[in-house]
Amino acid sequence: MFPKIMNDENYYNSDITCEEWHKHFTQDDRHCSGIRFARRIRLPRICGLAAMFFPIAGVLVIQAPPGGWWLFLVGWAFVWPHLAWQRACRSADPRGSEIMNLKADAIIAGIWIGLMGASMLPSAALVMMIGMNMMGAGGVRLFIAGMAMVILSAVVTLQLSATPLTWAVSPLETGLTLPVIVLYPLLFAWISYLTAIRLAEHKQRLEKMSTRDGMTGVFNRRHWEMLLHTAFDTCRRNQSPATMLIIDIDHFKSINDTWGHDVGDEAIIAVTRQIQLTLRAGDIIGRFGGDEFAVIMSGTPAESAIAAMSRVHERLQAFTLPNAPQVRLRISVGIAPWTPAFGHYREWLKAADVALYKAKNAGRNRTEVAA
Ligand code: GH3
Ligand code: MG
Repeated sequence: MFPKIMNDENYYNSDITCEEWHKHFTQDDRHCSGIRFARRIRLPRICGLAAMFFPIAGVLVIQAPPGGWWLFLVGWAFVWPHLAWQRACRSADPRGSEIMNLKADAIIAGIWIGLMGASMLPSAALVMMIGMNMMGAGGVRLFIAGMAMVILSAVVTLQLSATPLTWAVSPLETGLTLPVIVLYPLLFAWISYLTAIRLAEHKQRLEKMSTRDGMTGVFNRRHWEMLLHTAFDTCRRNQSPATMLIIDIDHFKSINDTWGHDVGDEAIIAVTRQIQLTLRAGDIIGRFGGDEFAVIMSGTPAESAIAAMSRVHERLQAFTLPNAPQVRLRISVGIAPWTPAFGHYREWLKAADVALYKAKNAGRNRTEVAA
């Protein structure tokens, strides 16, 4: 078997990487992610508790509890959501703090259920609201914990306040609760939809970042090697032709040393564009690192790859960098057609690399084919 070297593909697939990743997930990242978590719950809590004020008040008007409860109801419905947000924001652990806020929501919801004598419709609306928030924020475990807290605090409040159970549902209660039952799930679904959209965009950005070279936009080495693996398997399965090229800029260090790294970067981008302009859209171009590129031309024999590279050589002869017109951009190219003799894709890569060194040793600015 071909020895397993620590290239990008192996690095990203290794188990160590996950642990390393968690080590690098800094306190700051955790804080930001906690704030985002609290922000997702902020709007449903503000709207939900404000909307629940009316059905609860509708029942309490009949139960007529002491005045302090009214103050508590107003504070819970209109002030608490803002306090909860501030508490999470200012905490060193916003996520943990927000989970505590959710548990407080559950306990207070239980108190209202108890004080309303478990009045059916408003109690169902409260249970639905707390259940959705808990399930959405922390999955089944937090949901079960939340429901247990609601039930416990409702039973304790019923006992302590000696409120009789109320089974009858008044038209006022129905009128005040139904809008909450209809609108709250819609609000929750809309927020979940926005979160899903944001996650999908984030995923797309991450995918791009993980597969592309930031400077040139062509594939990075890790992704290019994965595509090479696939192309190699296809060649073996179908016995179809394919050619690999490794391209390296000649005397690039002296461009950097004479003109500076900015011009060096411009040179790398210019060579990438010339290669892209010459090759077909289906050719897989990757930046291998520094001033080195690699290309897989599937379905292409070596002769066509040589012809394509002589067009790139010609283009570069005529090309000048806008900020350094004196710079002569030249490249050396190693070409290796796929042959059934390759047992591993790295043998193919090695053959192209040997051809590149042949080109360098033969005086540069040329294309050499693997023997
Ligand atoms: P040769 O003809 O044998 O290829 O010689 P060379 O001078 O081109 O040598 P080499 O290919 O080893 O040079 C690579 C240099 O590229 C080394 C490093 O300082 C430089 N380099 C690597 N990445 C970047 C980059 O992103 N930008 C710039 N400006 N330079 C880079
Ligand atoms: Mg070079």
